[in-house]
Amino acid sequence: MKIPQIIKTHCPHCNKHSEHEVRISKKGKERSMSMGRRKYERIKKGYGGSPRTPKKQVYKVGKRPVVVLKCKSCGKKHQKVYSARTKKTVEVGE
Ligand SMILES: [Zn+2]
Repeated sequence: MKIPQIIKTHCPHCNKHSEHEVRISKKGKERSMSMGRRKYERIKKGYGGSPRTPKKQVYKVGKRPVVVLKCKSCGKKHQKVYSARTKKTVEVGE
């Protein structure tokens, strides 16, 4: 799936249509010392095993591409989730 580098769409900060730079959203690095991670490690310690049930099989095909849009007039960013599911890798370019 290909997405153009610059798209004209609504900016919630300017409250009007303007040109946006498109970038593919990536998952950030997980912090090893976050509150949830520390709590999870503490519960997992010793006997008893994992507190979370194992993941069930997912039947959905593909993922919805998520892009980060940067407004050219105000410089603020917001996200857009495409409604179509795709198995192919998402590329930004002409
Ligand atoms: Zn804007």
